Amino acid sequence: MKYIFGPVPSRRLGNSLGVDPIPSKTCNFSCIYCQLGRTTNLTNTRKNFFPKEDIIQEMKLSLKIHEKTMDFLTFVGSGEPTLYKDLKDLILAAKRLTNKPVCVITNGALLYNREVQNSLMEADVIMPSLDAGDEEMFRRINRPHPDIKFDKMVEGMIEFREKFPGKIWMEIMLMKNINDGIESLKVIKKILNQINPDRTYINVPIRPPAESWVIKPSKESIERCKEILGEIYNISFPEEGQFFSPSSDLENEILLLIERHPMRHEQILKTFPNFSEKKILTILYKLEKKGKVIKKKYDEVIFWNFIP
Ligand code: SF4
Repeated sequence: MKYIFGPVPSRRLGNSLGVDPIPSKTCNFSCIYCQLGRTTNLTNTRKNFFPKEDIIQEMKLSLKIHEKTMDFLTFVGSGEPTLYKDLKDLILAAKRLTNKPVCVITNGALLYNREVQNSLMEADVIMPSLDAGDEEMFRRINRPHPDIKFDKMVEGMIEFREKFPGKIWMEIMLMKNINDGIESLKVIKKILNQINPDRTYINVPIRPPAESWVIKPSKESIERCKEILGEIYNISFPEEGQFFSPSSDLENEILLLIERHPMRHEQILKTFPNFSEKKILTILYKLEKKGKVIKKKYDEVIFWNFIP
């Protein structure tokens, strides 16, 4: 499968079957915490990067196998999904093919855009990010495409909230000494009040970030964040559960999975139960030699990351 991955265990969405319509690291942000590394194609131009018929065909095949065991069909992956021009057609196809809820994970930058708003209307859950409370912090953390302005993005989120009939679950990535101070959190809270999402999740960098100086906040800081932001869902822990991969072409499957989702070392060994640890390690080291993946230690844990 080229565009569909998983199901993968998700801390917010249970067992999530991923749809990835965007080429690796094509995004309108280059977040300092991005688990996929720095953005290599910083663009704000929406287009169909791959033929939609091919993506829909893979969705059909994958849903036949996984529909019963998955909880969500989720548009997410190697970049920003709202950059896919005909996203509306992909979401409508997903709704025709499954009764399971459809989620779109987005950085929220284009929620002001009427075409993007219209594309997302049939989804059940939209998960936008909000890591900053002002333009300066926004540029420092998310390093957006020059055409994207903070105020316009926030206005778009507020407007979209008013129009969208489904659920909006916001997510804040909290980072030590960057946005975990009292003042930063207070301005984020003000904006959250205006957006009025159904839920707010607090996340922390649990996989190797694009910039090595990005670190997890302390437990005290997460507690302080809860006090300031009010009712939040804390997801500052690694996901648990089994990743699914078809294992027909092991090297390719390992690569496709790591491309969307950097994996903990022990996690990747468990993902392919039909193959011995030795075989999986041989492939990982071969991919490492070819310069396609890299082993990184972050927060005392070994991860395998894709090299975009
Ligand atoms: S975290 Fe998301 S929005 Fe930020 S650079 Fe990575 S893919 Fe883009």
